[in-house]
Amino acid sequence: MSDLLAESVAVATGASSGIGRAIARRFAEEGADVVVADVAEAPREDGAPTHEVIADETDADATFVECDVTKPDDLDAAIAAADAFGGLDIMVNNAGVVNVEDVLEVTEDEYDAVMDVNAKGAFFGSQRAARAMTGGGVIINMSSIAGLEGTGDYVTYSMSKGAVRLMTYSLADALGHMDIRVNAIHPGPTDTELMREDLGTDGEDENPFVANVPRGRMGEPEDVADAAVYLASDLADFVTGTSLVVDGGMYSTRGKLIRD
Ligand code: NDP
Repeated sequence: MSDLLAESVAVATGASSGIGRAIARRFAEEGADVVVADVAEAPREDGAPTHEVIADETDADATFVECDVTKPDDLDAAIAAADAFGGLDIMVNNAGVVNVEDVLEVTEDEYDAVMDVNAKGAFFGSQRAARAMTGGGVIINMSSIAGLEGTGDYVTYSMSKGAVRLMTYSLADALGHMDIRVNAIHPGPTDTELMREDLGTDGEDENPFVANVPRGRMGEPEDVADAAVYLASDLADFVTGTSLVVDGGMYSTRGKLIRD
């Protein structure tokens, strides 16, 4: 790998598992020091905690901070941990949850659980990061192709991810004068525990979404991590307020997030 993020310091939420874990590892490969901010230190999938893997694989510094993104004070604590590495340059608001639901049955608690993590967490993650980015920086928000289209099986999820998309565009405007770039990534179906366990595809012979993916395979967390490296790096210096779709072509060609 190269040194695209040399001398940078990143906080990534939800980085113990899945996509966030891949982002933290790729950032470290590119020279960034990383704060892994998550409710749990252990990955949902097998393996050692992310910061330990980074210490084994790279020369980067990494640490874990227990952080529930629904609590702004926790986000401040994760960002404060970046000070020990020299101060925050890159914030990745990645933590997210999905609930497969019948819209007629969704309770207030279920609604709040999804909106609080996905939308409120990304908002306060961005706000608290921007307060710390006195010399400029980069914010990346994890939306979804479900933030670009309606999905009847997870209405609250689509709502939350659509909010993340427009929040991203709005923050790019609001924070541009601070030399802060703000972009969203919209993954398609990606092989993580969220996909396997939470969306219930584990154990199926073939992932039900793949038939709608022109690239003919599931996304891997590393596919999304590579997109995050680009957006975080100076290669994307003129890129802000945009949506980077990483879905093997699914959204633009096949439309809805449907199962065959
Ligand atoms: P995973 O469930 O694999 O990983 C998510 C991580 O976030 C877990 O470690 C989880 O902890 C943590 N987390 C959950 N709630 C909180 C919270 N309140 N505060 C801090 N951390 C929390 O999911 P993915 O890697 O698949 O998803 C990452 C992001 O990508 C999400 O925003 C998701 O919506 C988005 N996405 C995923 C897609 C996919 O197909 N996988 C497609 C499109 C978007 P715990 O171990 O406790 O659950």
